[in-house]
Order: sequence, then C-alpha cells, then structure tokens
Amino acid sequence: MEKTKGEILAEKLFDKKENGWLKEDDTNNIMDFAEGYMAYLNKAKTERLFIKNAKKDLEAAGFQDINKVDNLKPGDKVYYINRDKGLFASVIGDQDLEFGMQLVGAHVDSPRLDLRPNPLYESDDMAFFKTRYYGGIKTYQWTTIPLNLYGVITKANGEIININIGNDPDDPVFVITDLLPHLAYKQEKKTLGNGIDGEDLNILIGSIPFKDDKVSNAVKLNILNILNKKYGITERDFISAELELVPAFEARSLGFDKSMVAAYGQDDKVCAYTSLKAIINLEKVNKTATLILADKEEIGSMGNTGMYSNTFEYYINLLLEKTNQNDYNKVNTVLCHSKLLSADVTAAYDPNFADVFEKNNESYINKGVSINKYTGGNGKGGASDANSEFVGYIRGILEKNKITYQLTDMGKIGMGGGGTIAYILANRGMDVIDLGIPVLSMHSPYEVTSKFDVYMAYLTYKAFLED
Ligand code: MN
Ligand code: MN
Repeated sequence: MEKTKGEILAEKLFDKKENGWLKEDDTNNIMDFAEGYMAYLNKAKTERLFIKNAKKDLEAAGFQDINKVDNLKPGDKVYYINRDKGLFASVIGDQDLEFGMQLVGAHVDSPRLDLRPNPLYESDDMAFFKTRYYGGIKTYQWTTIPLNLYGVITKANGEIININIGNDPDDPVFVITDLLPHLAYKQEKKTLGNGIDGEDLNILIGSIPFKDDKVSNAVKLNILNILNKKYGITERDFISAELELVPAFEARSLGFDKSMVAAYGQDDKVCAYTSLKAIINLEKVNKTATLILADKEEIGSMGNTGMYSNTFEYYINLLLEKTNQNDYNKVNTVLCHSKLLSADVTAAYDPNFADVFEKNNESYINKGVSINKYTGGNGKGGASDANSEFVGYIRGILEKNKITYQLTDMGKIGMGGGGTIAYILANRGMDVIDLGIPVLSMHSPYEVTSKFDVYMAYLTYKAFLED
C-alpha cells in the first residue's frame, strides 16, 4: 500500500520516541557490557570501594598518578585520587588546556545508612547499631532487607582498618526489623513518610551474651569481644570510623528478556561506570578529556570530596603546571572554556505512578540517554539551565554517532524536584548539561535501569570526550 500524504509528512515531521531495542542490531555488545557493569556493582557498592576499583582499572589502562609525573604531553594519561572517595582522570589532548577540556562528571556516593559515632547499644538481650541515613531515602524501604557493612576505622595511632562484611559468601548480613502485620494496626494508620522514623533504623547485629553473670550489657560485650579479636578495636574506635550499611542484594538481570539491571546504587554508579569505561577506551582526544568521580552529591556536594571542593581547581593547576602552561594562573580560563556532561541519573516514567509525570516530557527506559536541560522543581529553582546552543552541540554529537537519546524534564510541576553537580560547574563558567540514564525506583535499595540505555550512555560519554 502506498503511503498517504499525511503519513509521509508525519514521518518527516513528528519527533518519534521509539523503544531502542526495535532498531537495535548490537544486542550482544549491550548484554556483554551489562555483565561487566553488574559485576562491578557487586564489588563496588560504596564510594571508597568504587574509587579503589576505578584506580586499579585506570592503572591497568596506563593511567599514572599525576603526583608521580613531572611532565605531561599529548596522549599521556593521569589520575588524581581525592581522599579515597573521589577522583579525577585525564587523557592529555593535542590542544592546550586554555582552549578548555571535555569533561564528564558523575558521582560515586549513593543513599545509604551511616553508623553514628556512638552506634553500639544493647536492648533486651539484643545488640544494635544506631544509624543516620545519608541522602534521600524512603525509610520504610530499608527494613527487612539484608544489609552489608563497609568502610574504615581509623585508630588514634593512625592505623586504618578496612571493614568489608559482604563480599565473602560466608559473611553474615544485618537487618532492620519491622512490626508484624498482626500487631501493626496502629502503625498502618501512620502516613508512608513516618511509618518508620529515622530513629527506628536500628540494625540488629547480635544476640549471644558473654557468659558472665557479673556483667550487664553482656550481648554488647560479646559483640565488642568479637570485634576486638577480629579487628583489634574497642568501643571508642567507632568515634573515628566511617561505616556504611548498604543493601546486600546482588546486581541481577531483570525480566524474562533480561533487558534490565536491578541493583543497589545505580544512582550514580551507572554513570560512574559508563564514563570510567569511556575514558579508559578513548581512541583519540583533541581537547584534554577529563573524568570526574565526585563524592557527597547526595548530601549537597559539600566538603573536600564534594564537587564544591577546591580540589578540582587544584587538579587543573597540576595539569597546567605539568604541561608547562602555568605562566600565569589560567585555571579560570580552563574552567570557562570547558564543556561538561553532568553524568547523573534521572527519574524514569513509571506507569504505576503515572499521576506525578507529565507524559510528553519524561524519560522512558529503553529510549536512550536522557538529557535534562534543567533540573530543580517548579520554576527551575536552583537549576543551571543549559543554553540552546550547547544543547544543539550535544545533539549534534549524538546524531552524528547514531546514539538514541531523549530530552526530558522530571515530573509534573509541584511534585518535587532534584539537582546534580551540574550547576556547581556551570557556576564556574563552563557549558554544562545533565546527561544520564533513566532509573525506576530511584534512591531505593534496588533500582532499575535498561541495559540498552546503559550502553547508550557509554557510547555518549566516549563520543563526547573524543570530540
Ligand atoms: Mn545522582
Ligand atoms: Mn541521587
């Protein structure tokens, strides 16, 4: 049948947002890439573990610690580790730094439960850890799920003890109990937001008492005795610890068609992983290509490992110095001439919660990378709002490389909002736009992404860094 005039015109003029799998002929690569991604998530659930693994991978790919290099020339590869929780990595370009860098910036921290400085207590012959949640969580989602414990304890003598209870199959798990439905008549009348209070997020960690009638808090004592034998610590050492509880779930393929990834911490380790792979696999660079893996995004990017930190300027100074371009301070020139993809996730449209979304302006899983021109809520409050010219430039790269993408907002007006590191770097003068991956159940213990989108993100970051 011949197409009608209207059909031909519609084909030419309408913006069709198609499911990426329909036209996909690269399914094997997509599935293989997702396998690598899931394996990574299982060994790198915290910011420290992610940076540790990223450093290993960068070194294997020929990146050197910038502090151990005197001079840098085009093609050289360097990294800078920021307090084991963040990093910068660069491939030096042919063009001088003052013409700007191509940057991709993701974050490696995810919502979780942190131990408080005095976490350990006993109640009615059970021992618990007291927590304070980190980032935006729905507290009720964190009860009755298995949890791992990761982090470090620094003793007063400077000795650092690594804690990793979760990566060995013989490791125990920890859990927050919830009330049985039989006795929850009162609890169930509470709103969803305060059904479980922040102060209710207490971790059950033991129940055997130390055998001695003379001591009180015998279960707590027994736990401390176990910890003392294993790690040489006493109760006071928790004061200088950073210990995080994260879901023990393994990353798994989701669905009969295995089209999706279900895993904890995909915000924003999905962008961290894809951009890390992108900089490792760069085939050419024109401008200096730089990867930022930041910490503390989930609590406002503050502190010396967050994106607000001057450590970033310090790193640019190191690059300038070692490429012999530091005749005068050119850091601002580099900043103002640079371009950044703020690589962070966005909310995927969920038909189960359709009423909070504006269907024409949302991200859909399987429809490619998601570009957010602005974030914020309501009247774009706090957003850096990329300009038309820069959006056009990014579209150009995507279309040239046949990468599936969607330009989106996040939610109906008045439903909430969010932010990323975008505005922080836009404030410093660079062209910035948010470009990441749509996520279902974002900030939950088990987030969902599409393997197609994950691969598109990898292709995007690579193409952008090579531009
Ligand atoms: Mn994020
Ligand atoms: Mn987040």
